[in-house]
Amino acid sequence: MKILVINCGSSSLKYQLFDMDNEEVMVKGLVERIGIEGSRLIQEKGDDEYIIKEAMKDHTEAVSYVFDALVDEENGVIKNLEEIDAVGHRFVHGGEKITKSSLITDEVKEAIEEYTKFAPLHNPANLMGLKACEKLLPNVPNVAVFDTAFHQTMPAKTYLYGIDYKYYEEDGIRKYGFHGTSHNFITNKTAELLGKEKEDLNIISAHLGNGSSITAVKNGKSFDTSMGLTPLEGLIMGTRSGDIDPAAITYLMENKNIGPKDMENILNKESGVLGVSGVSSDFRDLEAAAEKGNERAQYALDIFITRVKRYIAGYMAEIGSVDAIVFTGGIGENSIGMRADIMDGFQQFGIKIDQDKNNVRGGAHVISTDDSKVKIMVVATNEELMIARDTQALVELDK
Ligand code: ADP
Repeated sequence: MKILVINCGSSSLKYQLFDMDNEEVMVKGLVERIGIEGSRLIQEKGDDEYIIKEAMKDHTEAVSYVFDALVDEENGVIKNLEEIDAVGHRFVHGGEKITKSSLITDEVKEAIEEYTKFAPLHNPANLMGLKACEKLLPNVPNVAVFDTAFHQTMPAKTYLYGIDYKYYEEDGIRKYGFHGTSHNFITNKTAELLGKEKEDLNIISAHLGNGSSITAVKNGKSFDTSMGLTPLEGLIMGTRSGDIDPAAITYLMENKNIGPKDMENILNKESGVLGVSGVSSDFRDLEAAAEKGNERAQYALDIFITRVKRYIAGYMAEIGSVDAIVFTGGIGENSIGMRADIMDGFQQFGIKIDQDKNNVRGGAHVISTDDSKVKIMVVATNEELMIARDTQALVELDK
């Protein structure tokens, strides 16, 4: 079975075509600057790059170029589009209506429309990709895989905010959580690696990348997570503030005369480690700057480390017994120094990182000492594969 996975951003589209017989990526690509001058598609097949530079005014046009690239005689990997058995789409927000990956129905589309209020940039872009596939591949089933779905198992005590309950009832203000596809993948993979049933697995899944979130997984299900109503809550991120006293926001809005849209922009795009350091949102740049003595870059790293520790420790207490603390995402998989600094301080609870074993990037490894009370692991995430697997399962079930 061949499955195309599509992840649409507001002006971009990433895709991967999987051969599910061996779960291999046949080809992957990226379309940039959709609707903006200079649109282009870059497709990678092994070491070869195929580039199409054409005006693409919307996602429908972008998807049609993706199809052209997939069947291109010289650079493509399939002979005709009928070889695609299904398309899996990444969706950001399914709110309370969507608890698992779903074949597209009117109900699913309604939920996507409804929760656009909390994901105004992402849900409409995701939907455009879906509509383009429905139009251009009318006989191929589409599946939606949601970032929020995995977290729908959270209990009220972790998803409710400390505000008047009417705002939850009337407006849906609560924690929804994100990165669910990654946390779900990490949960499945860790269960497999530790030889445990998913239902018996308790882990702390730390997805640390440009966007970062930590999830407490209890009995294989999301129990608590650091992102909230939107992906702005929780850890300090590349350009997002993460947790902040809400009074600081209203104070700034009032005293600096900042409107709600501008404030949202500041908190999402001009804050985080970029805002604190004034250097970069990329941790490699920050580590390099801090090493050269840049004080603000060091503050940014220290805030990040402190918050990750705070969430890990808090979540461990919430779920009681923990099999593993698992690092994933660009930083979690690659930054040996960040992992060591985050775990420093846990020795007093018998949780010890092994400095030699920690000297790894990506893959799947245990990096704690043999006598550590809780395993510390590095597991590379693969959200696209998770989407392809869910898509295959749903399509096969529907046959
Ligand atoms: P996204 O959230 O966009 O998917 P990633 O998970 O790919 O992002 O993470 C990207 C981040 O990972 C980069 O911004 C960078 O800070 C960090 N990163 C990647 N490689 C390294 C490395 N070798 N050392 C430290 N940080 C790294």
